[in-house]
Amino acid sequence: MTESDVKPTNFIQEIVEDDLRTGKWEGRVHTRFPPEPNGYLHIGHAKSICLNFGLAEQYGGEYNLRFDDTNPIKEEQEYIDAIAEDIQWLGFDLKDRIFFASDYFEQKYEYAVQLIKKGKAYVDGLSPEEIREYRGTLTKPGRESPHRARSVEENLNLFERMRKGEFPDGSHVLRAKIDMASPNLNLRDPVMYRILHASHPRTGDAWCIYPMYDWSHGLGDSIERITHSICTLEFENHLPLYDWFLDELGVYHPQQIEFARLGLTHTVMSKRRLLELVKEHHVKGWDDPRMPTLSGLRRRGYTPESIRSFCADIGVAKFNSTIEIVRLENAVREDLNKRALRRMAVLRPLKVVIENWPTDTDVDWLDAVNNPEDPSAGTRKVPFSRVLYIERDDFLEDAPRKFFRLAPGREVRLRYAYFITCTDVVKDENGEIVELRCTYDPDTRGGDAPDGRKVKGTLHWVSAEHAVDAEVRVYDHLFAKPDPNDVEDGRDWKDTLNPNSLEVLTDCKLEPDLKQANPGDRFQFERRGYFCVDPDSGSELVFNRTVSLKDTWAKIAKK
Ligand code: ATP
Ligand code: MG
Repeated sequence: MTESDVKPTNFIQEIVEDDLRTGKWEGRVHTRFPPEPNGYLHIGHAKSICLNFGLAEQYGGEYNLRFDDTNPIKEEQEYIDAIAEDIQWLGFDLKDRIFFASDYFEQKYEYAVQLIKKGKAYVDGLSPEEIREYRGTLTKPGRESPHRARSVEENLNLFERMRKGEFPDGSHVLRAKIDMASPNLNLRDPVMYRILHASHPRTGDAWCIYPMYDWSHGLGDSIERITHSICTLEFENHLPLYDWFLDELGVYHPQQIEFARLGLTHTVMSKRRLLELVKEHHVKGWDDPRMPTLSGLRRRGYTPESIRSFCADIGVAKFNSTIEIVRLENAVREDLNKRALRRMAVLRPLKVVIENWPTDTDVDWLDAVNNPEDPSAGTRKVPFSRVLYIERDDFLEDAPRKFFRLAPGREVRLRYAYFITCTDVVKDENGEIVELRCTYDPDTRGGDAPDGRKVKGTLHWVSAEHAVDAEVRVYDHLFAKPDPNDVEDGRDWKDTLNPNSLEVLTDCKLEPDLKQANPGDRFQFERRGYFCVDPDSGSELVFNRTVSLKDTWAKIAKK
């Protein structure tokens, strides 16, 4: 076995392997991903999904998707549907493994009654503000509520009446009776239930009390007989509470394990902020291709494989860090390089007339390679005719010596076609270049000169007569700064939004083969990057740029 055959393991895999060795869970591995349906999934969630579901797949276990639908005010069916769709798109089969925290509302209620009977929970009538004040701070112990000493009977009666809807929102809560002086604030009699007279997407008006996250979450894990409950680091301080609830009830008790959440440069990841960007129209929606959401990345042209390989590549750690967004971009570049068909597309066209081309109607159909990385992708025919388009920035009138593209008197290769030489420049009344006059060398068909003559530059091009019109949307980072929070006093994270994150090019000319492209199809436009057909695409094609190529060539030219 060579070193590269050894699968890299992270600390969570080590825990799982240990447990399998000792038979801690009778050899079972059962994980879950518990999103709150209050927004769309983002790339951070993808990391958690790949970790949780990936472990289950790796060790022959099972995984659940469990919606944490305990706050009806912020949660919507739209989000539930989008989350399930995104997970399937990532490549995880959810089969019949979709659950809801609300599936267990009745059982959780019964468990709460058990705790009350044990003298471990009580109904408190303090207002939310008072509860906060009584709670104390990190340096100051909390104070006990005057209602803490209520009898079991009184608590049972009040809790039942809470459920029946006899009290208004905020008038009572059910709290765990733990320790108001605990150094861990989460243990200072945390709230288990609050009153909310709100309709729930799934349970409708059946309930007007809703469980709090810490209470609900561990019970969900226990009921589903999860083995490893993997969550992000901010829950480390909640672990004693997770354990307390399950131990007091004496029920099945999974192991909580924390890992570092993913942060990425040039973007934000909190759902609250993403929602703000959508609501304030800084982006066109949750699936705007500039968003770090899975639906945005999908629309942008990211493949599920590239996202999974990115998640595997960044690994799993115990300390928070921010990953450079170029690593995500590299992942999709690498994946698309292997599979995307190559096509020619001129994004900012400049007309070229081949003066010595036999006639206006002569067309030469040339062979072009579909993917040099994949010979099985074959070849296609591209038409060459008298009038062509090349990229505006592939021509300079006063070109420096090292500009290896087209300039007056210089010769370049048109990809898969001929060598051409620029003989004249046509300008309009404002002095703008509107057309180039060129000659071609008929002996260079296919792109090589029989006399061994070399040219430094190879340009992509499209035949004008055959070109397909398209709009191309070119994206840049959503935030100009690597860390959007890096702002001066008095300014906020939205002040670092990149004003140039979207450039719309409306006059693009594509080779005719692309006429058949369907929404979601991905291509490499030679020398321009990777592009994907947008769902908006109709009779007029619309492409999104997924990512640029590493254009080493452009760097040389700038020197
Ligand atoms: P946000 O802070 O964006 O609202 P959240 O953690 O409240 O995120 P949930 O829907 O509760 O969102 O997340 C579901 C799961 O995804 C949780 O287990 C959470 O730990 C995990 N998760 C959320 N964000 C990230 C991230 N950036 N990296 C890794 N895991 C994450
Ligand atoms: Mg959460």
